[in-house]
Amino acid sequence: MEKLYNCLICGYKGLIQNPLSDGEYQKNFDICSCCGFEYGYSEDHDVKLGFIVTPDHLIEVAFQLYRKQWIEAGMKITQPEAIPEEFKNGAFLKFEVLVKQLESINLNTENFEIKGFNEY
Ligand SMILES: [Zn+2]
Repeated sequence: MEKLYNCLICGYKGLIQNPLSDGEYQKNFDICSCCGFEYGYSEDHDVKLGFIVTPDHLIEVAFQLYRKQWIEAGMKITQPEAIPEEFKNGAFLKFEVLVKQLESINLNTENFEIKGFNEY
């Protein structure tokens, strides 16, 4: 069985390549089947930070912005056929599944300034 890695954005364990190798960010163009983040592309093209290429020290900011956009847009699953049925609510990820996934990547969700996040 192939080893899978957690997405750094949504926490879903479905990446074929590790986005972090020895703590270094890898632009490996792997796409998360849950949130759709493409490593090496989305941080430059799917968030608007005002850079053509997001500088390395702002990668984490780009991740946070993408996560916020994705959650606020309703957590639409990019590749629904790749996600277990019990994780889904139609085309979207279940909120309680999201919380578990974010905990699995040690994300502190207590101070999330994301619309709708604390309303559930
Ligand atoms: Zn993801």
